Amino acid sequence: MNERSDSNVIFSGCGFDGNQPYLDFDHEMDGRFHRRRFHLSDGAFTLRFLEERYCPGSFSLDRLMGSPCTSVTPLVNSSHNHCYACFETTGFNPAFYHMPMHKISPQQRNYNQERHAVYLAWFGPSVVKVGISSVRRLSTRWKEQGARWAVQIAECFNAYEARELEEKISQAFDLPEVIQVATKKKLLRNTIDFREGRTQLEELTTSVLESFPNLNRGKVQTMDQAYFMSALANHHLIDQAESGKISGVPVALIGDILISDNNGQLFMLSLKKWIGHSVLLTHVRESIDFHPQQTALF
Ligand SMILES: [Zn+2]
Repeated sequence: MNERSDSNVIFSGCGFDGNQPYLDFDHEMDGRFHRRRFHLSDGAFTLRFLEERYCPGSFSLDRLMGSPCTSVTPLVNSSHNHCYACFETTGFNPAFYHMPMHKISPQQRNYNQERHAVYLAWFGPSVVKVGISSVRRLSTRWKEQGARWAVQIAECFNAYEARELEEKISQAFDLPEVIQVATKKKLLRNTIDFREGRTQLEELTTSVLESFPNLNRGKVQTMDQAYFMSALANHHLIDQAESGKISGVPVALIGDILISDNNGQLFMLSLKKWIGHSVLLTHVRESIDFHPQQTALF
């Protein structure tokens, strides 16, 4: 794909304003990017992602807010997801525990000193992960990952203490720390009894607390109200990962998986890999060609 958008627009991320899912787009104007936010409740739209990539901006660990890149920097090195300036401004590495302490940025050292929670999150039958997050970001973190049920099981003084506990629980209960997007997409195609999620998570929490007696049992919470998914009634989802195009009325954003209704057919697209890409964005529904036999593969 070598198409270019006339007015340069990039997709810079998605997330949740409380329980309002949104997509952010950076528009180039006067030599810099300006961010516009689009909520799922705003109605029909079409996104067609292009190969061209630009820096999607920086994130402040202090204010927990993103900002667009000020220099409209194209990304040509496939291993870079940000320009150097935005990378330095953000200063975040999720795998900080694999780094020597002096290589962790001052921003992240401050952030790591905040109180951190250890949690369990349920994505589908027997698909549970253990994770950590700053207490301030906990609920957002659960939504960003697309957890369906989640429970906090400990509050630690800092990220290092939380990470140590996370690793111990992961090993003791053979729990992953990451759920792959392919697994998440597969789960969305299944009809699942979500009440079962609560029971499974409560039982697992009891077992973990028996092995780690100093932890605290939090309340098991459902995340579904955040995903705008009341209209998601069937699970015949057509994955648009190949074409990078999705169009229609958005009916859900579950973590980074966007689901749109196009003339009664549901399409899904995992958006994370498209962050930073140029995009053709219109606020109308376009028809999508698809082969019905695609659904028969699953
Ligand atoms: Zn940048």
